[in-house]
Amino acid sequence: TTTAPDATDDAYLEIDGLTKVYDDGDDSVVAVDDMNIDIADGEFLVFVGPSGCGKTTTLRSIAGLEEITEGQIVIDGENVEGQAPRERDVAMVFQTYALYPHMSVSENMEYPLKVRGMPKDERDRRVRESAELLEITELLDRQPKDLSGGQQQRVALGRAIVREPRVFLFDEPLSNLDAKLRVHMRTELNRLHNQIGKTSIYVTHDQAEAMTLGDRIVVMDEGEVQQVAPPQQVYDQPVNSFVGGFIGSPQMNFFDAEVDVDAGEIRTDAFTLPYPEWMHDRIGRGGTFAAEFGIRPEDISVEGLDEDATAEDHATAEVVVVEEMGSDFFLTLENDGVEYQAIVEPNTNLQRGDRISLQFDLQKCHLFDDDTGDSLV
Ligand code: ATP
Repeated sequence: TTTAPDATDDAYLEIDGLTKVYDDGDDSVVAVDDMNIDIADGEFLVFVGPSGCGKTTTLRSIAGLEEITEGQIVIDGENVEGQAPRERDVAMVFQTYALYPHMSVSENMEYPLKVRGMPKDERDRRVRESAELLEITELLDRQPKDLSGGQQQRVALGRAIVREPRVFLFDEPLSNLDAKLRVHMRTELNRLHNQIGKTSIYVTHDQAEAMTLGDRIVVMDEGEVQQVAPPQQVYDQPVNSFVGGFIGSPQMNFFDAEVDVDAGEIRTDAFTLPYPEWMHDRIGRGGTFAAEFGIRPEDISVEGLDEDATAEDHATAEVVVVEEMGSDFFLTLENDGVEYQAIVEPNTNLQRGDRISLQFDLQKCHLFDDDTGDSLV
């Protein structure tokens, strides 16, 4: 093996310089570009990013389903290069449940153990225990065609759990379920992970799924890792405007801005706000510079009608759309042709066409570099 034990620290699975290039003759795609991530034993790590960013390729590389171009995957101190998927002792759960239609639920779950030549009584015990864990005991004699989508997904999970693998790999396992069931299964996966405690790597394009499941989230774009951090940190301190915009729904508002340090102002086409002291302390630039200003919809609140505006960190806006969501209202606002969104407390007095005064939570706003998109704060 190529890795000294002290180099691994307490990483259970290491992705070291993973690069995958698909080369179809004259066309080559860098699907994953020099990825380096250490995953702790028992961690739930979620890869998230837009379609085509390289999530599935990463997962398939760990599983041994793709030959990688450069780098290595180290599981429990062992470089798994050249090992077939079966030898890696990892279990993959797919978006399509891939159940065997001619086998019952218990036969489906038992099958991977049978293939490995496990004795019958051990097979039975594992199927029984996994079925209890997944609350599908009463379904064991059914055929897959007689199950709902959610039940089929549980059986697919069961088929991975019975193997007691050292790592679980999930490829968008919930994306074929309807919205309500998806949220329910998300909670179930959280519960299962707490009970089983095995290292899990999960791929999704759904940022809400990533936020709720991950101990840490890996945000990817175009084959490159953008940020690796716990969910709240990714949300509060995005390293660049891509991450700021990708995580959070409705998404962060962005404005082209000019920061005038001497005047102490951030000027956008929609409004002018004071340049907060804490930003100045961190950024340290003088003069005037261009930047991208970001603020999340929930960090904008309604102060009242326009005439109530007083302090300087206020701006006025016209209400374009009011969406009543029950626990909050989504507002689409406009100033001088620039539209943006706010999530505010329910206020049935608000109407389309109102001119209102807004308050911005300047502790929570962001400035990004105009060229690179990197966070300046
Ligand atoms: P999605 O969410 O749509 O599944 P993803 O983030 O999982 O996307 P990948 O499937 O890993 O992305 O694809 C990454 C890039 O590699 C894409 O540009 C894709 O077109 C390309 N790619 C994937 N598989 C192959 C292949 N077998 N041959 C050539 N290019 C491929």
